[in-house]
Amino acid sequence: MTKLSFYGAAQEVTGSCFLLESESSKILVDCGLFQCPRFCDIRSREPFQFDPREIDALFVTHAHIDHTGRIPKLIKEGFRGKIYSSPATRELAEIMLKDSTGVLTKEATKEREPVIYTESDVDEAMRLWEAKKMHEEIQIGGFAVSFYDAGHILGSAMIAVDVGGERIVFSGDIGNSGSVLQKTTETVAKPTYFVMESTYGDRVHENEQRVLMLERVIERTVKRGGTLMIPAFALERTQELLSVISKMMEEKQIPKIPVYLDSPLSIKATSIYEKYLKIPFFKFPNVNFSLTTEESKKINDVPPPKIIIAGSGMSTGGRILHHERRYLPDEKSALLIVSYQAPGSLGRRIEDGAKSVSLFGEEVPVKCRIETISGYSAHADGETLFEFVRAHSDTLKKAFLVHGEPKASLALAQKIRDYLGIEAFAPKYGESVEIS
Ligand SMILES: [Zn+2]
Repeated sequence: MTKLSFYGAAQEVTGSCFLLESESSKILVDCGLFQCPRFCDIRSREPFQFDPREIDALFVTHAHIDHTGRIPKLIKEGFRGKIYSSPATRELAEIMLKDSTGVLTKEATKEREPVIYTESDVDEAMRLWEAKKMHEEIQIGGFAVSFYDAGHILGSAMIAVDVGGERIVFSGDIGNSGSVLQKTTETVAKPTYFVMESTYGDRVHENEQRVLMLERVIERTVKRGGTLMIPAFALERTQELLSVISKMMEEKQIPKIPVYLDSPLSIKATSIYEKYLKIPFFKFPNVNFSLTTEESKKINDVPPPKIIIAGSGMSTGGRILHHERRYLPDEKSALLIVSYQAPGSLGRRIEDGAKSVSLFGEEVPVKCRIETISGYSAHADGETLFEFVRAHSDTLKKAFLVHGEPKASLALAQKIRDYLGIEAFAPKYGESVEIS
């Protein structure tokens, strides 16, 4: 008998953590931070609902913090098994976790709480962490585990676990079919259970028009002589935007205006992208990399029009806040939302039409244009997710929909039940189910 328990990303999008247990072994898939509404939500501080010392191995789908951010806490609380992921995920996770340690420390100091882990826990995690190639089988007790390309961000994988004649596939996050940097999501042979993300389970992306939409947003900003701010996640979105904007300039679809990547984390991530994808990001003309605070401040002196890409992706911290304080009140400027904005985040309030927002203790009016292009999401939309299930429907017995707000997960579950006749539901936090 195998038991599957959901310890995160259950009817919400953060905190991914799933436990598989047999009589003899226990493995975890992902160990992410709960992030709504804070970077480190209060629930990330709570003890695990299992004993970390009893876990034999941890498998990581990809480097995003909502899938990796509690790994050092797992270490701190006694986990000594092996950690497995793809090589790129291992490299990206190290810079992401080190960066998040800084953010966690800042947040904890502000809230007068102890920090949940430190950089030495991250270092210990890296010592236990082994990189594995796609499709290479790893045997842990009765579990045979292998990675499949998820097409979401660099290194992202789905994890297939074979046990007792069943094949449980954890999708991690599934890529958007319009991605310019990643391959399409792989088909996995003969799955019987899916633990599948459903972030955009109830939405359809405007994939086809996204380049055109971006072109128009940039043109409008240039015409008005304003600044275009793009809050973007360090992984994937940033590199995709740099590629697309550079190409548009090269092909003279948009005027050549200065582009600033104002995020030390994104710059580090971009060098890992350059290594794996062999794209010369650092040689793109018109793109400037602002590593130091001095370089960041100098962006202010450059007259518009200009484009600033900065973190964090949901405006919950980082250098984007300084630019937002400056340009949100400017009617000529624009803020472009290209990523998922979690409920409660500053980005979500702006997306929902707030007339003013609080930044650094002052009320800042929002007068610039707010533009949204959902096609730049690194997540598949509802139709793509549904098609993914349909493509595997011959052998699939059940789909557990995770990593989505209830509305999104439930809508997709309903569609899978109605159109494919496959049992599908969105489990709750702490719920366990028996497999086979
Ligand atoms: Zn992700």
